[in-house]
Amino acid sequence: MDERQKQISQRRIRRRRNELIMKCIIAFLVVVVLGLGGILLKEVVFSGKKQAPRTVQQAGGQPAGQENGSLQQKDSTAGGESADSQPADGGSMAGGSEWKAQADLMAAQYDYDGAIELLKSSSEYSSSTEFQNAVAGYEQQKASCVAYPIDQVTHVFFHTLVKDTSKAFDGDSKEAGYNQVMTTISEFNSIIQQMYDRGYVLVSLHDMCQVNEDGTVSRKEIRLPEGKKPFVLSQDDVSYYHYMDGDGYAQKLIVDENGDVKNTYIEDDGSISVGDYDMVPLIDTFVDEHPDFAYHGHKGILALTGYEGVLGYRTDEVYRTREEGRVTEYQQKFLDENPDFDWQSEVDQATAVAEAMKADGWEFASHTWGHINPVAYGYDATVKDTERWLNNVAPVVGDTDVLIFAFGADIGDWQPYSSDNQFFTYFKQNGFDIFCNVDSSQYWVQFGDNYMRQGRRNLDGYRMYYNPDMVSDLFDVEQAWDSSRPTPVPEM
Ligand SMILES: [Zn+2]
Repeated sequence: MDERQKQISQRRIRRRRNELIMKCIIAFLVVVVLGLGGILLKEVVFSGKKQAPRTVQQAGGQPAGQENGSLQQKDSTAGGESADSQPADGGSMAGGSEWKAQADLMAAQYDYDGAIELLKSSSEYSSSTEFQNAVAGYEQQKASCVAYPIDQVTHVFFHTLVKDTSKAFDGDSKEAGYNQVMTTISEFNSIIQQMYDRGYVLVSLHDMCQVNEDGTVSRKEIRLPEGKKPFVLSQDDVSYYHYMDGDGYAQKLIVDENGDVKNTYIEDDGSISVGDYDMVPLIDTFVDEHPDFAYHGHKGILALTGYEGVLGYRTDEVYRTREEGRVTEYQQKFLDENPDFDWQSEVDQATAVAEAMKADGWEFASHTWGHINPVAYGYDATVKDTERWLNNVAPVVGDTDVLIFAFGADIGDWQPYSSDNQFFTYFKQNGFDIFCNVDSSQYWVQFGDNYMRQGRRNLDGYRMYYNPDMVSDLFDVEQAWDSSRPTPVPEM
């Protein structure tokens, strides 16, 4: 064969190969098109409906999205936009009314953009005057909202609520402390109802500010209908410490069979009741009935210590290592009484509760691992304490950038934190951007270049008894006061 013939035959081979490849591609495309057509046909014939959002109301009456974060819960760490507000793939037979119900819920929680986006993303939107009218209504409501001054957002907090006052106020050595810093369930319910009636709306600290990628912190805008007042709600400790056993407090938080977060309570006969026995399930139930109490579905933030675990679970490392010299008397008693104690299962359960809470609008903060006052405790000890929080609590409840000081302490006076404050520098380097102390003024908010600080108001026996006027902007103490509380409330 000469050169020329060789080239011709090679060209022929190449051409044949290319034709074969083309044919294969065409055949593949035909199969894909036929397949898609078939699926489409099946959808039209069998469902006759477009995608519907997941059932809005579950058995327990909870919006479904709250549980798995698909709809209701957009983003529990920040009030920002999120892309996951798409209803999940169908399955339910229901049609547009469920999209509408979900959008109405979002709008009731002042998330007008989310509601509009949801309906517009529906394939029914272009043909549904109901959807179009709804969107026009949301637009109108949104336009009538006003920005609330971020510097005037108040923040209230509670400790674990007293379920059984006859046990908390039984004359033992702990009664005085409980009477001063605790609030009873009936008082809490009255306070929340009164605040709701006065137009207060739950917001997150992350609705107030935004932490930017470069570490700076800027103000955000909270827009609400005129007359509505945003406030932040927090609860301290929520460890259900060993010392509270038998004193009329809930035992722990659990996820019940409906996926709702509830409390357990040990009755006198040793049986265990499940119900709304502390702040988290009480607020969940209240928001189910009054969705407009929670801005974008955001609820409150729990300030957690770590030394006896979290949320009623004994998750701290000491329960696993049982290191001599670190196990306290209370902890030893607990371990002795619970020979089958399984640390990993404890961690798993606590994690499941924290996940369910975060999906339902709750957040977590550090309250320091050992309930310490950093400055009084010293720098090195504070570093060790923070490491313990980051190693023992964060793996269970997730990372947080919020530090809610114990004892109402702070790491500086009212003047802005400066970079030569070694405590601030250390906390900032370890991921904390938002700091809360205790301050009795109606509101106290401070923005630095790279942090936000807010004062919190204690709504407890001491405050209600001695300074009812200091909370009169929030509620009427006379209405809320639990008459089973002994008086006078002991002085501090
Ligand atoms: Zn505390």
